[in-house]
Amino acid sequence: MGREKVMAGRPTLDHIGIAVESLDAGVEFYRALGLELDGVEEVAEQGVRVGFLPVGDTRLELLEPTGESSPIARHLARRGPGLHHVCLRVDDIRAAMASLAERGYTLLSDDPQPGAHGCLVCFVHPRSTGGVLLELSQPAGHPHRG
Ligand code: ZN
Repeated sequence: MGREKVMAGRPTLDHIGIAVESLDAGVEFYRALGLELDGVEEVAEQGVRVGFLPVGDTRLELLEPTGESSPIARHLARRGPGLHHVCLRVDDIRAAMASLAERGYTLLSDDPQPGAHGCLVCFVHPRSTGGVLLELSQPAGHPHRG
């Protein structure tokens, strides 16, 4: 235990991802609570169109599939709309991935992938986290990016 790497800085809750059939319909519900969309972005690499709704210090991320092969389309087909993932923001995604990998946890990619807003992201398999699809995200423009 003593020789394992210790992460610099604690992660914070970046957002909660919710799979929706339609971004517009999803947003309409949250508008009734006074929440507003803070931009919509298509992330081609993940096959999704995402809309972020700021909530306090965190955000909801509504994910709408852009095609049949999108992981979100497969999620909707299997489980229907609803809670999809939890995202933790980290300062150094490569250090976080190395910390998990050296403890034997399963990452869904070997390298960080491009996410919304120029972030670098990586997903952790639910079997490693106790049933939660966990996304790690390093904000754009961070010194560790590259
Ligand atoms: Zn996300």
